[in-house]
Amino acid sequence: MTLPVRDDLLGKQPYGAPQLPQAIQLNVNENPFPPSESLIAAVAKAVAEATATLNRYPDREAVGLRFDLAAYLTRVTGVPLSVDQVWAANGSNEVLQQVCQAFGGPGRVALGFEPSYSMHPLLAAGTNTGWVAERRAADFTLTADAAVAAVARHRPAITFLTTPNNPTGTVTGLDVVDAVCQASDGMVVVDEAYAEFGGTVSAVTLLDRHPRLIVSRTMSKAFAGAGLRLGYLAAGAEVVDALRLVRLPYHLSALTQAAARAALAHTDELLGTVEAVKAQRDRMVDGLRELGLTVVPTEANFLLFGPWELPATTWQQLLDLGVLVRDVSTGPGLAGWLRVNAGTEDETSAFLAAVSEVVAARS
Ligand SMILES: *Cc1c(COP(=O)(O)O)cnc(C)c1O
Repeated sequence: MTLPVRDDLLGKQPYGAPQLPQAIQLNVNENPFPPSESLIAAVAKAVAEATATLNRYPDREAVGLRFDLAAYLTRVTGVPLSVDQVWAANGSNEVLQQVCQAFGGPGRVALGFEPSYSMHPLLAAGTNTGWVAERRAADFTLTADAAVAAVARHRPAITFLTTPNNPTGTVTGLDVVDAVCQASDGMVVVDEAYAEFGGTVSAVTLLDRHPRLIVSRTMSKAFAGAGLRLGYLAAGAEVVDALRLVRLPYHLSALTQAAARAALAHTDELLGTVEAVKAQRDRMVDGLRELGLTVVPTEANFLLFGPWELPATTWQQLLDLGVLVRDVSTGPGLAGWLRVNAGTEDETSAFLAAVSEVVAARS
């Protein structure tokens, strides 16, 4: 039986990194540190209180949560942000989907610099937005000149810049963001999902100069809240108003809003894991290089390592040894690379031991 699925979706594959809880899971860039007992208690209490009002729809505008997110961004960037400049949804993927719905659509194209986050083209596809990709340099960097030339060539309605970039870990400077904003009459999205792991200045500092700039963030990575599903963005108030036209009513449940606010009240504790994560990442970098492998310089909680002649085989060998990494090697410009994210100390040790075994068996 053939279903009348949209023509442009026929033959497409859904996003699907394997979920194998029995393995050491280092494949989706999660923070390996679970919430503390005190955070669990605080979230449970907040959720219980919100449960008492579940007969009512939640705050459609999530004002309290957006207020807390604005306060956090103001604190870490030094840029004063108000509630009407911040928007939140179920993961930054939903935020980015709303951006595509509001600013993309049929007859418009979105531009990305690959290799980069594989969800950007999927979000474009799902909203019937065309996708054009330019390649990053061989070392995965992106210069202002190259980015501006691409914008001039494609005249995109939306340009995606990801920094630190997934899956390469590469940082893109604010000079590039600034130049792309000046060159484009479309929206420019800076995806800062991993910003807390990097040391660079946030594109939030450019918001007052560029009314079409959007900076997206998430609680899934540094905030150790992947299961929470809470992403957000900072932009001009007019941008937020445009997103209201496409969001589903009451898209953020009362439970999500309550849990996210409780977690944000523990920001210092949650971000306290960032240094530990970076320490394990650096152990991975050193350990892999000692094994004679190449590691792409990274400012995120993950890294690309290789080169592997048969990356799918290596991926399976590592899984057979109990360690799940990400085979990104079929992506554009990624032949021969695998990606892994920092684990706990034990998980990182297990990963390095497994790679060492694979390398020894190979020679
Ligand atoms: C993980 C990731 C996200 C986060 O997605 P959520 O929906 O917030 O979990 C966004 N952008 C990039 C580049 C990512 O790697």
